[in-house]
Amino acid sequence: MNNVLIIGAGGVGSVVAHKCAMVPEVFGEITLASRTLSKCDAIAEEIKKRTGRVISTAKVDADNAEETAALIRETGAKLLINVALPYQDLNLMDACLLAGCDYMDTANYEPLDVAKFEYSWQWDYQDRFTEKGLSALLGSGFDPGVTNVFTAWALKHHFDEIHTLDIIDVNGGNHGKAFATNFNPEINIREVTAECRHFEAGEFVVTEPMSKHQSFTCPEGVGTYEIYRMYHEELESLVKHIPTLRRAQFWMSFSTNYLNHLEVLQNVGMTRIDPVIYQGVEIVPLQFLKAVLPNPSDLGVSTKGRTCIGNVITGIKNGQAKAIYIYNICDHEACFEEVGSQAISYTTGVPAMIGAKQILTGDWKKSGVWNIEQHDPDAFMNDLMQHGLPWKVMELTPDQAAKFQVI
Ligand code: NDP
Repeated sequence: MNNVLIIGAGGVGSVVAHKCAMVPEVFGEITLASRTLSKCDAIAEEIKKRTGRVISTAKVDADNAEETAALIRETGAKLLINVALPYQDLNLMDACLLAGCDYMDTANYEPLDVAKFEYSWQWDYQDRFTEKGLSALLGSGFDPGVTNVFTAWALKHHFDEIHTLDIIDVNGGNHGKAFATNFNPEINIREVTAECRHFEAGEFVVTEPMSKHQSFTCPEGVGTYEIYRMYHEELESLVKHIPTLRRAQFWMSFSTNYLNHLEVLQNVGMTRIDPVIYQGVEIVPLQFLKAVLPNPSDLGVSTKGRTCIGNVITGIKNGQAKAIYIYNICDHEACFEEVGSQAISYTTGVPAMIGAKQILTGDWKKSGVWNIEQHDPDAFMNDLMQHGLPWKVMELTPDQAAKFQVI
């Protein structure tokens, strides 16, 4: 049986557990484990109501590799799906090596005390996974994840060489709160406040956070939004695995309201990740801020609007310049109706289930540590169509691509 162990009972974990439960022909016994057992139990209850399927729950400290390995053995899991936080990635990879289990995640490792995310730490596990005949799949969410698969699929079916890649992530949703983040606030704010890096002419170029922005009009009436260039982890693996790339950039939409709140929080020191002493106790301001902000997994009930995430890709085919835009649009309210979550958790959790499915069905079961664009994209792209994230592709002129003019 294809038993799986899902670690993390947050917004994303809830969607992954729901979606795995909805594909019983692939996913055998499902165990959802996290730091707080009551959160796992509440999700299990929802899944039973929605799908009729009973899943198991457990309490685990994912920072403890031995404890997690014992849980893997107890559940008989063939695959561990890590949707806890990036801080746990290495311990969970260690747990998989100890217990002989495949591994996957949706975000690359970050040390707790430095806001620095890169693949080097996880790529270092290559030999250990290969020697044990185990697979590790890195970054199977939407971005990273689907955006990488879109790029691999474009290279396979539309281009001989890809030259530029612009990933554009628009959240046209409104949760009705003064300020909230759509996924874990601590991880989100560390990412957004980091210096910007984009790839140009063979190297990463560093610029001030949020210093470059432009307006972008999404297709299908999603709307026009201001998008800001920022660093995102898939740029690192994509420029490595697609060496013809001359420029790679990542853009995300932010409202003025979000940026104004963030600026104030930064100015008053609330986004600091170094500990401060408060009433004799050490606290990390950003962790305290997370505790007072709305919980992203509770935003589904009030969020309206759509997300539009896609890639503008240029290159050559048969000696001719070519450009395409490939994208998915996802409706927050439809996601809530289906699995009780907003679209950011949904667009991450569905590709996590699909990546898990590729490993369990054998298509992507290869020893070693893999970024998602290194696998054949076709089955994953088909599954996106089947499991709630349909995509479209349109041809652009090189001039439209240069201006991100997709409608
Ligand atoms: P949440 O904060 O909502 O959930 C994280 C869960 O992990 C919580 O249930 C938390 O437990 C649990 N957890 C944290 N530390 C431990 C630990 N030491 N042991 C056991 N459980 C632990 O985050 P999200 O669901 O929003 O995000 C989950 C992951 O998805 C993150 O890594 C995020 O970066 C990634 N992500 C990826 C995206 C993509 O497109 N690739 C997009 C969005 C998110 P507790 O409830 O007790 O705090």
